[in-house]
Amino acid sequence: AKWVYAFGDGKAEGKSQMRDLLGGKGANLAEMSNLGLPVPPGFTITTEVCTYYYDHGKQYPPELKDQVAAALAQVGKLTGRSFGDAKAPLLVSVRSGARASMPGMMDTVLNLGLNDETVSALAREAGDERFAYDSYRRFITMYSNVVLNVEHHAFEEALEQYKETKGYDLDTELGAEDWKTLIQTYKKIVRDEHGSDFPQGADDQLWGAIGAVFNSWMIPRAKKYRELNSIPESWGTAVNVQAMVFGNMGDTSATGVAFTRNPSTGERALYGEFLINAQGEDVVAGIRTPQNITEKARTEAKSDKPSLESAMPDCFGELTRIYGILESHYRDMQDMEFTIEKGKLWMLQTRNGKRTAKAALRIAVDLAAEGLITRNEAIGRVEPSALDQLLHPTIDPKAERKVIANGLPASPGAATGEIVFNSEDAEAHRKAERKCILVRVETSPEDIHGMHAAEGILTTRGGMTSHAAVVARGMGKPCVSGVGTIRIDYKAQTMTVGGKVLKAGDKITIDGSTGQVILGEVAMLEPELSGDFATLMEWADGIRTMKVRTNADTPTDARTARNFGAEGIGLCRTEHMFFDGDRIIAVREMILADDAEGRKAALAKILPYQRQDFLELFKIMSGLPVTIRLLDPPLHEFLPHTDQEVGEVVKATGVTEDKIRQRMRELSEHNPMLGFRGCRLAIAFPEIAEMQARAIFEAAIQAAEETGSPVTPEVMVPLVFTRAEFDLVKGRIDATAKAVEEEKGAKLDYQVGTMIELPRAALMAGQIAETAEFFSFGTNDLTQTALGISRDDAATFLGPYTQKGILAADPFITIDQEGVGELVRIGCERGRATRKDIKLGICGEHGGDPASIAFCQQVGLDYVSCSPYRVPIARLAAAQAAL
Ligand code: ADP
Ligand code: MG
Ligand code: MG
Repeated sequence: AKWVYAFGDGKAEGKSQMRDLLGGKGANLAEMSNLGLPVPPGFTITTEVCTYYYDHGKQYPPELKDQVAAALAQVGKLTGRSFGDAKAPLLVSVRSGARASMPGMMDTVLNLGLNDETVSALAREAGDERFAYDSYRRFITMYSNVVLNVEHHAFEEALEQYKETKGYDLDTELGAEDWKTLIQTYKKIVRDEHGSDFPQGADDQLWGAIGAVFNSWMIPRAKKYRELNSIPESWGTAVNVQAMVFGNMGDTSATGVAFTRNPSTGERALYGEFLINAQGEDVVAGIRTPQNITEKARTEAKSDKPSLESAMPDCFGELTRIYGILESHYRDMQDMEFTIEKGKLWMLQTRNGKRTAKAALRIAVDLAAEGLITRNEAIGRVEPSALDQLLHPTIDPKAERKVIANGLPASPGAATGEIVFNSEDAEAHRKAERKCILVRVETSPEDIHGMHAAEGILTTRGGMTSHAAVVARGMGKPCVSGVGTIRIDYKAQTMTVGGKVLKAGDKITIDGSTGQVILGEVAMLEPELSGDFATLMEWADGIRTMKVRTNADTPTDARTARNFGAEGIGLCRTEHMFFDGDRIIAVREMILADDAEGRKAALAKILPYQRQDFLELFKIMSGLPVTIRLLDPPLHEFLPHTDQEVGEVVKATGVTEDKIRQRMRELSEHNPMLGFRGCRLAIAFPEIAEMQARAIFEAAIQAAEETGSPVTPEVMVPLVFTRAEFDLVKGRIDATAKAVEEEKGAKLDYQVGTMIELPRAALMAGQIAETAEFFSFGTNDLTQTALGISRDDAATFLGPYTQKGILAADPFITIDQEGVGELVRIGCERGRATRKDIKLGICGEHGGDPASIAFCQQVGLDYVSCSPYRVPIARLAAAQAAL
């Protein structure tokens, strides 16, 4: 079998498509060789050797030794030297390289092949003793650290001590004799720490390094990384052995890294850093300050050190030529590593570069404009979720941050404001046009208005799917949740963190993208939604087949969503309209009423408010469909909770406190999620649904008159599990429509449909579709009811479930395709079988999740609906799903 693939001298046995076999680094070294670029010759030991090694109790395949020896001889031939030779020694680097780039894998060993004998040959050849012994001491420390597990700091201490006795400040002050002396000390350290002498035989060194690469595949941090990034253990790593080129051969030598485009802005210009007279990791190690590649970057950075462009114009020209070749070959931005040896440029690595969301957008759009990729490819190049970074204000990366605590990055974006500890104060701040951050232990539905009023939300308890997190994401407000180190004292109106006490009114900044809590104000950058963003979105809209609607309850949400390109409202929850301001009193009056008459009287007070709410939404969404869900939550959520609230209700309604408390007891439930809610309310108290239907229809007629364009409301009945429930409620809605038509002398165009959010509803979809004109899959409740997991209580046990691989992902974030998804599929099939043109959508949180959106495309939904700030993400994800 073939275990070793050679590269160099303008050709290679491998190529970039052989990534699985050669690893990313090896495949690209081969590809660069094939392109005729200057790559030091070498060879790759395949990932299959790694697999073999672990399958055979850490034994190599029998043919490997000979294949490596032959490849090494070939490298020697190309370089005119020979491995282990005392006159013209071949020195190599040993580099690991898995299929996917894996930080935390084994560090590269440079200058391998050096020993007490070959080091003098190197000095002779280079005519530079200092260079040779500097390389040798680097090799000893690297090899001892990586292969023999001797800690770095032992060598560093020895070096510092030596510098002190000699009165040196910088490493560059050490001469050949100094390094020689230190090398003796280093060797002694190895003997003491490792228990045997530093290996002198070149072959021993080589196989030691190869073994270390394979062994590093199973070290805990590599395993952990694979686990976190779902990289299978079976992939294995490759080993690259490559002839050394020296960036530390004096002032005409250098080493550096460069991107073909700016990885943070996407700007088309060579971008990177280099160091003169340096080797390998010196650039990133931060020992010396690296220099800029281009003159332009140098000027911008106000650096007084020359750029590569001015210091080594020939090499810069060559690098520019190569970057052009690599970009057009790989058709993507490249991240390159290079070394210059005595004025000659050598390429040591290339790969598709990592980039920010902003850069990803710009690069995708530019590459398409330059004709390197198609528009469809450009659409596929941007990670939809990454757009989240762009839709919110962010902290200026240059700004200083005084971080006082860390929590979970629950909802992206950053915000600054004065601390407030309750929703009333948040509202008061907004009225006074002062920005605030709502700080709570946790939030509840009653805090919605406070959350709306605040710039951002901070909670000390709760996870990524807590009430605060979910609602904040829906509103597009930054949220940091679960900041356990902060203690809130509501009475004293203070919070304590790390011994520091902050009062209401003190300014803080939260960064919902990182989870940081920062003291005071920090400079922000505003989102940029025109330009590249708009261009890519337009391309995406051109190819997607699913519509994207929004979940919006308020005019602000609706406006935001429309600006982001929403094509209607897929879910308008009406309950928040019951909480707002004075209405809650009328709502409580309605709940406390003894009979239908009393309820109707109270509902009549709510009607004008509801009608006004709908009118605004219809006008904002003019020309687009709007789905309105009838009241869903259990009534007790609207009842007073505190003594003060009870007092207010007594005053406003005249109902006795005893009666209120009795009603509170009656309505309290053990399991509200499965209790008296959804269409069950409309069945027990039809007058609620009638009032809502009336408000919708009257508003629709008025909006059509005012805007001149027709409104088609879609009235949605929640939580049905059988057609009979739906029919009862639909009967009331239709009767109300008829009455309104007669009163107004107008014709209504509307639809009545249902949420499919209970497993039984999905199964009975065929029957329900006989009368329901549309379905919207409420996958939040469908997930709760299909898995028997309450979202509010899931935090404690879902973590271990995903860690142990029982669930692939949090089912409230990404739809569980096998189970919940199967119910959706059944619902679609059975619904369509009955009613061919039934409109199908999704309105759970999943409607804004790219993986779930791909699934929606598969089952053939007509639209997805998501929170306003996820609309652009959904547009792009829907386009990718259609590719
Ligand atoms: P990583 O995967 O951590 O980037 P590499 O294998 O790319 O590790 O090696 C790191 C650095 O070591 C390279 O960027 C380069 O500067 C240096 N290096 C590796 N191989 C050679 C070589 N054959 N000649 C000179 N320098 C090398
Ligand atoms: Mg590298
Ligand atoms: Mg629901």
